Amino acid sequence: MLVDTHCHLDYGEFDNDLEEVMGRCQGMLVVNSIVQPDAVEKGLRLSEEYDNIHCTLGLTASDVDEDRFKEAKRLVREHRDRIVGLGEVGLDYYWVKNEEEREVERRHFREFIELSRDLKLPLVVHSRDAEGDCINILEGCKSRAMMHCFSGPPEEALKAVKMGCLISVPANVAYVKSRQRLVEALPLESLVLETDSPYLSPVKGFRNEPANVKYAAEKIAELKGVKVKEVEDATSENALEYFSIVL
Ligand SMILES: [Zn+2]
Repeated sequence: MLVDTHCHLDYGEFDNDLEEVMGRCQGMLVVNSIVQPDAVEKGLRLSEEYDNIHCTLGLTASDVDEDRFKEAKRLVREHRDRIVGLGEVGLDYYWVKNEEEREVERRHFREFIELSRDLKLPLVVHSRDAEGDCINILEGCKSRAMMHCFSGPPEEALKAVKMGCLISVPANVAYVKSRQRLVEALPLESLVLETDSPYLSPVKGFRNEPANVKYAAEKIAELKGVKVKEVEDATSENALEYFSIVL
């Protein structure tokens, strides 16, 4: 069985053909990441309509708006029993260049980490051009996380793994060389798979979808010289255990 640990099926890109998209990933498990407070109802409804969709709830890392941050925290508390994790949350220095706003991102991130501890929810972390700070903050808070689309260097990934973090590998590992090097440096026990649909398509220029997570499994198998089934089993076990999903 395959698990897509991170995607955005509540985005408008799936409004017209979600049924077909889900038809192509039957037998898989999908963790949908809700990151916009006003999409929460829509996202939660999806996991009621489809048995194999679970969801996490957070806030886009680059969103430094104080009201939306408070609203996101309130929604996480309110829907604690309908979600399997808190996220994505984290730091994005690619979109946020201003030091004052970066400080707001870091404060929000710390508060989200505290909330995840309070509510006993596993964390899903987004970091873009901010891997070092993300890991330091997690370390300072003695928290582990699933690092979604991790794109830092192998040394930072290894440090995160030592802290108990999972590193999530997107399907575009099929052609992104730096991601391939990351996979080579990490043990299977620390990896999970994702698509980040509709983004990061393994087929350039096309909308991504959960069924494509198989390309990540195939590439990792090739890189590690093991059977695809072994990658599927190990990464699914990691994901189910992390999110406490019982089949
Ligand atoms: Zn995402």
